[in-house]
Amino acid sequence: MTAGPAPLQARAPWAADPLHTRGRRFAEAAAQGRDAFQRDRDRIVHCGAFRRLEYKTQVFVNHEGDLFRTRLTHSIEVAQIARTVARGLSLNEDLTEAISLAHDLGHTPFGHAGQDALNRCMQPWGGFEHNLQSLRVVDELEERYGAYDGLNLCFETREGVLKHCSAANAVRLGELGRRFIERTQPSLEAQLANLADEVAYVNHDVDDGLRSGLLTVKQLSQVELFGRHHHAVVCQYPEVSERRQVYETIRRMINELVVDLTACSAARIAAADPRDAQAVRHAGPLIAFSPEVGARARALKHFLFENLYRHSQVVRMTSKAARIVTELFNAFIEDARLLPDDHRRKAEQRLHRTVADYIAGMTDRYAIREHRRLFSMDET
Ligand code: MG
Repeated sequence: MTAGPAPLQARAPWAADPLHTRGRRFAEAAAQGRDAFQRDRDRIVHCGAFRRLEYKTQVFVNHEGDLFRTRLTHSIEVAQIARTVARGLSLNEDLTEAISLAHDLGHTPFGHAGQDALNRCMQPWGGFEHNLQSLRVVDELEERYGAYDGLNLCFETREGVLKHCSAANAVRLGELGRRFIERTQPSLEAQLANLADEVAYVNHDVDDGLRSGLLTVKQLSQVELFGRHHHAVVCQYPEVSERRQVYETIRRMINELVVDLTACSAARIAAADPRDAQAVRHAGPLIAFSPEVGARARALKHFLFENLYRHSQVVRMTSKAARIVTELFNAFIEDARLLPDDHRRKAEQRLHRTVADYIAGMTDRYAIREHRRLFSMDET
């Protein structure tokens, strides 16, 4: 793989510009010494939902092992990958980082099993989407500032956090949902954070899958992206441990994807030649892998779906998790007096959404403990 092209230019016209943000929901004086997107990134890092990511499942439930990825380490890896590409493309690194760090804030405990269970519970009341919940966290649920609920982030950051949403929700969201109706693109920084998420998880799930013993090197070697790099690593370093060979393989896989993403996106931006950050929205998706490398990444993703995410041991744990979420939901709906004081007050206005917010905010271990407290006679 040849190196990507040199950075296109400093302060590219297509990069999001903190001096021309579409603004915050509540007007605020500019910060001293930090621009608008730096300030958003800092607000995210300091919020409670960000700290809770440390104890939320990515694939493996948090207590299954100390070295597996959690939502927090996943988000940090996404931000690292996204910043690297952002610098290569002269995009706004702070906005890219802010979106990356916030993208999973709305995840329930127990990963996708938790989200699916909560979505089923919430069907009659508008459902539950983790992307939309991430937006709810930064717009409403964080209670840290005197003047308003939420973190009062810039439009561009909020837009990036809302990766997908249903047509009905897009209408309800007004300005922020408009791009889903008009089928225009978000900022390049948002497009990038979205793809960096994929680069991060396909690679770290290979690592965690092997560490857990649910995947084997032999099995993974059938996947072109892994097999080719692993073969080269084993030829070059036949004496080092298998673990080290795996790390060396993964680092080469990440590098291949990052270098390709940078080079291919640079070429697409150059071809579209957007006049400014606004023109980007009317071009097609400009942040993309080349067709060949995109196909390699998809093949790995497909492999992980078939062999890791649907592995009987993962499914056993996730079905337990789904039961916990469902039983918690039903218990709180049946008797809202079981909720903590502040949630109980909100539940008087909107019972089901408040219960969903409460459960979505739980860490894995808090949900397990809360379930035990509610259902076991030995606990108080
Ligand atoms: Mg993610």
